[in-house]
Amino acid sequence: MSDARSSRIEGLHKMTPADRLQAVAAKAGLGNEAIASLAQAAEGRIELADRLVENAISSIAIPIGVATNMIVDGREVLVPMATEESSVIAAVCNAAKRCRPTGGFFTSSSGPVMAAQIQLLGASDPEQVRLKVYERLDEIRTICNETDPLLVKFGGGFRDIEVRVIETAEGPMTIVHIIVDTRDAMGANAVNSMAEALAPRLVEWTGARSLLRILTNLADRRVVRARAVWPLEEIGGEEVRDDMISAYHFADADPYRAATHNKGIMNGVSAVVLATGNDTRAIEAGAHSFVARNGHYGSMSRWEEDADGNLVGILEMPMAVGLIGGATKIHPTAQACLKLLGVETADQLARIIVSIGLAQNFAAMRALATTGIQKGHMALHAQNVALLVGATGDEIDQVASELKALGKVRQDVAEEILARLRAGK
Ligand code: NAD
Repeated sequence: MSDARSSRIEGLHKMTPADRLQAVAAKAGLGNEAIASLAQAAEGRIELADRLVENAISSIAIPIGVATNMIVDGREVLVPMATEESSVIAAVCNAAKRCRPTGGFFTSSSGPVMAAQIQLLGASDPEQVRLKVYERLDEIRTICNETDPLLVKFGGGFRDIEVRVIETAEGPMTIVHIIVDTRDAMGANAVNSMAEALAPRLVEWTGARSLLRILTNLADRRVVRARAVWPLEEIGGEEVRDDMISAYHFADADPYRAATHNKGIMNGVSAVVLATGNDTRAIEAGAHSFVARNGHYGSMSRWEEDADGNLVGILEMPMAVGLIGGATKIHPTAQACLKLLGVETADQLARIIVSIGLAQNFAAMRALATTGIQKGHMALHAQNVALLVGATGDEIDQVASELKALGKVRQDVAEEILARLRAGK
């Protein structure tokens, strides 16, 4: 980068977002069109963006669509999904419709319990450190609960400790987990604060040195399960059912397939997590590490045939989402999405999200085991390609339908069609 394009911009964080945008644009040589686009994208929301992140200059609007047909634990629910990927929402609507005859999705949950880790090292006997920590259970409870009296007031707070000695490349370490009920909060800040408050006391009691103090996103005490039954006639018969089960066995055995199978589940999950202002990275990290916790990376879901020959799907995964904290309460769009969902607790939200993940998985597996994924995908993708080549207004549908009719959803073909349309041929 030449000097003029240096990434150093003195005092950028102190500027107003509008001045910041100008300063960045000048450095990067952005033209008026790009500046206008960035300014316009954040119109009416730039103050919020500025409060949420550092050095804010704009924001990006991701479409929110609504998944219909969902019944979760007997309740009809409309689910907002924020995603830029075509056909994700249509797939959920279709899968949810096909399990309505059997009552939709049935869920259970282990409750909103999170854990933070405190790393203790440098002690001559890590096992002794482990026992010394357990001996202080009552004091630990007091320290943790005093750190977050509000959480305790809402029925949450410290629940337990778990202390492990792990082997590492530099020898054994003692790892303390503080286990906390975080109620309607995702809980990262809540448990991190407790870990930081507790660590100096652990040092005092054990003579070890404390290093890292932070939550684990492998929230294996905050697991939600969803189950649904798809009647044989809704799947397309025994052959499709058996092929879907074979598709599942493939994913469960092979990490190359599992990565994409699970990505499909997360298409649904992350879209609701994002729409409600929750932390998508925390959920993704928890989901993947939970699958791989025993050393093999396989399918997040399970699929089997029931006694009547119907297809049963089960999804069990950590779901650390909140209704309070992070952007959930501050972002008006997230608030509106939570209203749309009609949930009163974080646990209800978590159950809906896992149900959406299962619906998404059903749709993707059924498409893959029958017509292939491209048929449904291409219909919506054709519109994206039309937009990409600059089609506007009615041209978008005209270009997209020609692309589909030709069976060639490609940018070069779209360019030709658009040029022909504009030439009036
Ligand atoms: P927070 O600290 O903003 O809010 C939680 C607090 O709200 C509680 O500690 C409690 O004091 C209060 N509260 C009021 N009413 C409550 C109720 N009904 N239930 C529970 N608590 C109630 O948020 P948080 O959930 O502790 O942290 C979430 C944020 O932390 C997210 O923005 C996330 O991105 C971020 N974060 C994540 C990680 C990670 O995942 N590794 C690490 C650091 C921070």
